[in-house]
Amino acid sequence: MLDYILVGLGLSGLAFAEQLAQEGKTFKVYENYSQKSSRVAGGLFNPVVLKRFTPAWGAYEHMKTAIPFYKKLEETLDYKIVYDLPVLRRFNSVEEQNLWFEACDKPILSSLLSPELLKNTNTAIYAPFHYGKVNNTGRIAIKGLLKKYLDKLRDSAMLVEESFEYDSLQFNTSGVVYNGLQAKHIVFAEGFGVHKNPFFNHLPIPGNKGEYLIVESTELQLETAIKASIFIIPLGNNLYKVGATYNPNDKTETITVSSRKIIEDKLKVFLKSNYRIIDQEAGIRPTVPDRKPILGTHPDHNAIHILNGLGSRGILTGPTVAKQLYRHIEYNEPLDPLLSIDRFN
Ligand SMILES: Cc1cc2nc3c(=O)[nH]c(=O)nc-3n(C[C@H](O)[C@H](O)[C@H](O)COP(=O)(O)OP(=O)(O)OC[C@H]3O[C@@H](n4cnc5c(N)ncnc54)[C@H](O)[C@@H]3O)c2cc1C
Repeated sequence: MLDYILVGLGLSGLAFAEQLAQEGKTFKVYENYSQKSSRVAGGLFNPVVLKRFTPAWGAYEHMKTAIPFYKKLEETLDYKIVYDLPVLRRFNSVEEQNLWFEACDKPILSSLLSPELLKNTNTAIYAPFHYGKVNNTGRIAIKGLLKKYLDKLRDSAMLVEESFEYDSLQFNTSGVVYNGLQAKHIVFAEGFGVHKNPFFNHLPIPGNKGEYLIVESTELQLETAIKASIFIIPLGNNLYKVGATYNPNDKTETITVSSRKIIEDKLKVFLKSNYRIIDQEAGIRPTVPDRKPILGTHPDHNAIHILNGLGSRGILTGPTVAKQLYRHIEYNEPLDPLLSIDRFN
């Protein structure tokens, strides 16, 4: 008998799988590649909401768990995952500069925001009001990380690359049985795919579609991420990720001409160099109206659990909430009421 079956290997599934691996639990992962949110993510971690200059919920605390988690995975997988990457906020006006300096004076933000005005020296960028720099930022190479992790699971015969069929799940006194596989627990981490899950599709996870352009520019020569009305994130080899859009209405994962135009229009406001679009990507963020993850155990089935709702900041929140859910299942530790599924039961 397995300890766990895990459905979904995006950022939340990966964090839970690694928690299980570290605790020596036996498990199998089902993955059908139906959702792309984690694979298309920008990969940035940044503790500040750069629209409003406020601290992101729990980000500073989550970072203390997340960064060591990804660094440890670097060793396990022998693959570079964590990249230092400064994030510069491009100011639109003197008023915005002043709001930044006010934010720098707040005790909660003083260690996160640099109080210096950074002058723009890159001729490919138009930034007459210059930049503010955020501290403690970086990029996680998510696509490569997920690929490496899936390879590792596959090599260990712990990966089943097919759709989990909910109708085939049965229960007995020891836990669950799925296609002859017996496990003590099953954890669903399907991101926006949860809508097909009859055990949890009542939960409010309306989702928010995001699209990115991948552009190439030899003239830009940028080594920092810039946040203007959109992000430019350097990927190396003169490639940049540019976006993302937020669309709560379109629930498809197809790329759109309209999003491409929105991103290009915003980019042209501050990018003065030539560029070439070489790709476009889309995914649906599993967002929750109160902007908090959802974790916990099904009200009627104590072997069925959920880890979802990572929204637009899954990199930093994933490892903390995965650990919290694990300790809840194994040791009956109470969940943070702000995150518990109970708030919707
Ligand atoms: C455009 C965009 C940019 C983003 N940028 C950032 C960023 O810079 N920083 C950041 O922190 N976050 C970012 N995010 C948010 C982040 O990507 C999400 O928080 C995260 O991806 C959620 O991970 P997840 O594992 O819950 O969901 P998902 O990534 O959707 O993973 C769920 C997995 O479950 C699988 N699955 C679903 N149903 C089944 C089934 N029945 N059987 C088998 N497998 C199944 C899916 O194929 C998928 O692999 C971004 C998101 C988008 C869309």
